[in-house]
Amino acid sequence: MNINNPTANQDTHFFGDVCKNFDHAAQFTQHDAGLLDQIKSCNSVYRFRFPIRKGNGFEVIDAWRVEHSHHQSPTKGGIRYSEMVNEDEVMALAALMTYKCAIVNVPFGGAKGGIKINPKNYTVGELENITRRYTVELIKKNFIGPSIDVPAPDYGSGEREMSWIADTYATMNPGQLDALGAVTGKPIALHGIAGRREATGRGVAIAIRECVGVGEDMQKIGLTTGLSGKKVIVQGLGNVGYYSAKFLSEFGALIVGLCEFEGAIYNEDGLDVEAVFQHRKATGSILGYAGAKTEFKNTMDGLEQPCDILVPAALENQITIQNIGSIKAKIIAEGANGPTSPEAEAAFYKAGGMIIPDMYANAGGVTVSYFEWLKNLSHVAFGRINRRFEENSNLNLVNMVEGITGTALTPLQRSTIIKGASELELVNSGLEDTMIRSYHEIREIYKNNPKVETLRNAAMVGAINKIAVSYMNLGVWP
Ligand code: NAD
Repeated sequence: MNINNPTANQDTHFFGDVCKNFDHAAQFTQHDAGLLDQIKSCNSVYRFRFPIRKGNGFEVIDAWRVEHSHHQSPTKGGIRYSEMVNEDEVMALAALMTYKCAIVNVPFGGAKGGIKINPKNYTVGELENITRRYTVELIKKNFIGPSIDVPAPDYGSGEREMSWIADTYATMNPGQLDALGAVTGKPIALHGIAGRREATGRGVAIAIRECVGVGEDMQKIGLTTGLSGKKVIVQGLGNVGYYSAKFLSEFGALIVGLCEFEGAIYNEDGLDVEAVFQHRKATGSILGYAGAKTEFKNTMDGLEQPCDILVPAALENQITIQNIGSIKAKIIAEGANGPTSPEAEAAFYKAGGMIIPDMYANAGGVTVSYFEWLKNLSHVAFGRINRRFEENSNLNLVNMVEGITGTALTPLQRSTIIKGASELELVNSGLEDTMIRSYHEIREIYKNNPKVETLRNAAMVGAINKIAVSYMNLGVWP
């Protein structure tokens, strides 16, 4: 098949959808057709199979790594562990990574990996074997390295898997000083970074807060300005969904619905996210949670309940032309990658809604992954060198002000002013700044171009322009 012409191929949908969005946005740019083709295409698609021992026999595992764009190096993107993963999906996710990094000004090309397994069907030992063997296959083909391609967690993988990848890469590259920069999303004890685990969800919550903060846009869709009291439904209580719900409630929103694959729960007066999370941990299901007023066996029913904002944070293709008409929310904030089909998006805007697109909304993860990579290359935690100096300077200033004014601050006021920033505070501040700036960059394009119908188109226009500049500067050689 022609891998880069998905619209000509019946088997491809997700990459086709991403390319459709690209083609649509490209109309609003001024670039040469060949350059646009170079930006849109997946540069390298590595499909491989490897055996593992299972029981008394063997099992062959299908896997992929796709590097979509090399306009910046290294390339960057998570590894999905799912029995549903396929080449089309990995290509689509790699392409989204390229646009996402451009949107939030993270200097990476896009990549993505996939391992076709259901992690629940394997022991921890088997998962370790699969992860380490996957890493070795990438090393053999030069598809991993701190300056080449840097994986991270995605659906079905987390800190544990990233530790195995880091250890395998470092063991196979003895003496490589920057080896731990070959993968991000590592535990803090293995040179990960404070705030990475919750970064994507925190970013989603900040994205929504920015969006609902613009009075002019809220008036258009019939919502009041601000997050306070806004009713939110979240699909998926994994890494992205759980932290999105947690931070949204911290910012004043009311989480009225939560949907997992076993079903959905709803209470228009609000759900306690942490209590639901603990209930699911203890019982294996969100159903049966005492604080819910309504339960749905079919998880998709949960998406259609009354709310202001819907956050799909599980998987792609959840909101289609079939169910968009039943969605009550006015804003869809895409925590997951590709949850809304292009047809559903058009219908939603036509009905007076707006969508905060995945390639911006969930970019908090890659933003903090970028900080982790910088930390690994510099071999020092953020704040370590300057914190004490900052505190001493602040202390001198406070003493001076107290001396001049003759007014003593309270101990709490003193310690708040004097305290230097921790790694977590610096990471969160960098993340917040990135999400806020990027939202308004996208909105400016949206607002100033009447032909650009959606925030996704606007985000894509901005991304294409930035990537085009990089390619033009690089030139073509040899
Ligand atoms: P995860 O594995 O931690 O969580 C996914 C959750 O969704 C799980 O709890 C799972 O049970 C639930 N789920 C699966 N199918 C469902 C269904 N049909 N209905 C309701 N719930 C369902 O994965 P994650 O890391 O949170 O990733 C979720 C999405 O966010 C993916 O699309 C991923 O590509 C995207 N994403 C993740 C990150 C990250 O940093 N982890 C960053 C950017 C984007």
